[in-house]
Amino acid sequence: MEAESWWGDLDNALLHCIAEGAMDPAEIGRHLGISAAGVTSLLLLLAHQGKIRIRLVGGPIGDALVRSFHCPSRDEKVAAEFSRDSGQRVTRVNWCSAFNPPTAITCDRRCLEFDGLAAVGEPDVASGEST
Ligand code: SF4
Repeated sequence: MEAESWWGDLDNALLHCIAEGAMDPAEIGRHLGISAAGVTSLLLLLAHQGKIRIRLVGGPIGDALVRSFHCPSRDEKVAAEFSRDSGQRVTRVNWCSAFNPPTAITCDRRCLEFDGLAAVGEPDVASGEST
């Protein structure tokens, strides 16, 4: 199967799911057979492309931080989720939209060294964070 066709089919399946009513990413993931993190990444990309609107968000999950930003390592716009330590420093990349699946990160994770990541990245619309 062509990669483009696979992505198109996945987008259509996701759009079909959310057309049936409000669902959280884990529920959509169960329908599509992919992880909640993967669904979140797809939703972000579809929202970024103007294909969907995210109208309902929940509170922060744990101490994760989700940001959309231009990654200089990949020279592309990405969305990524980070874990933070008790001092609010980012310590781990949980997923990144540059990879498929988003949790299969193979880069050097230079984003962990970005100074002030929490301040420079755009707060993610699905994370429920306020600015
Ligand atoms: S995980 Fe890699 S590709 Fe993703 S933002 Fe970090 S450095 Fe960039």
